[in-house]
Amino acid sequence: MTARKFDGTTIVVASHNRGKVREMAELLAPYARHFPSAGELDLAEPDEPGCTFVQNAAIKARAAASASGHPALADDSGLVVPALGGAPGLYSARWAGGGNKDFAGAIERVERELGASADRRAHFVAAIALAWPDGHVEAVEGRVDGTLTFPPRGQKGFGFDPIFVADGHALTFAEMDPVAKHAISHRAVAFRKLVTRCFG
Ligand code: IMP
Repeated sequence: MTARKFDGTTIVVASHNRGKVREMAELLAPYARHFPSAGELDLAEPDEPGCTFVQNAAIKARAAASASGHPALADDSGLVVPALGGAPGLYSARWAGGGNKDFAGAIERVERELGASADRRAHFVAAIALAWPDGHVEAVEGRVDGTLTFPPRGQKGFGFDPIFVADGHALTFAEMDPVAKHAISHRAVAFRKLVTRCFG
């Protein structure tokens, strides 16, 4: 099926996280003019009961599009560790205590649960969904593969960045210049796919 193209001027950014809203508005700037956020429009934040990153992004985007009457963009992301059966995965934010506060604790938990496991592979996943008020959704997923390293290194970035080294690189995401991280990150890969699908 051919993808639906965005041809309006307004996209609601369906997130209550200010950092994410700013980042998405910057990425969308070439393609639309107005980027009200779900927070600014006072839209409720739906639960994320989906079984995949794409489902969760679609749930958030659809809720914002139907409540606002405008196309809406939402994302969902996380760190997947095969040796932990895919955890923290969909629960990545919750491992840090819900409000993304305690990443040191979440990183310690990954290290503790990995124990002596020799398998240190991990990947970040980002799903981005664009929904229209009629319920149509276009969704894409990006991924970046790497390995986990302990102890954590670097002060830049957020979340699990200090323990993640992308394949072909020596620095952790938290040691890399943000511009360099954003060029190869799961979110960048997903966003490029969305641009091709809906804004190309
Ligand atoms: P979301 O807001 O539900 O998408 O939560 C994503 C969670 O996944 C974050 O709180 C982090 O724990 C983790 N995460 C996602 N992307 C990244 C990243 O680029 N670096 C580090 N951690 C990330």
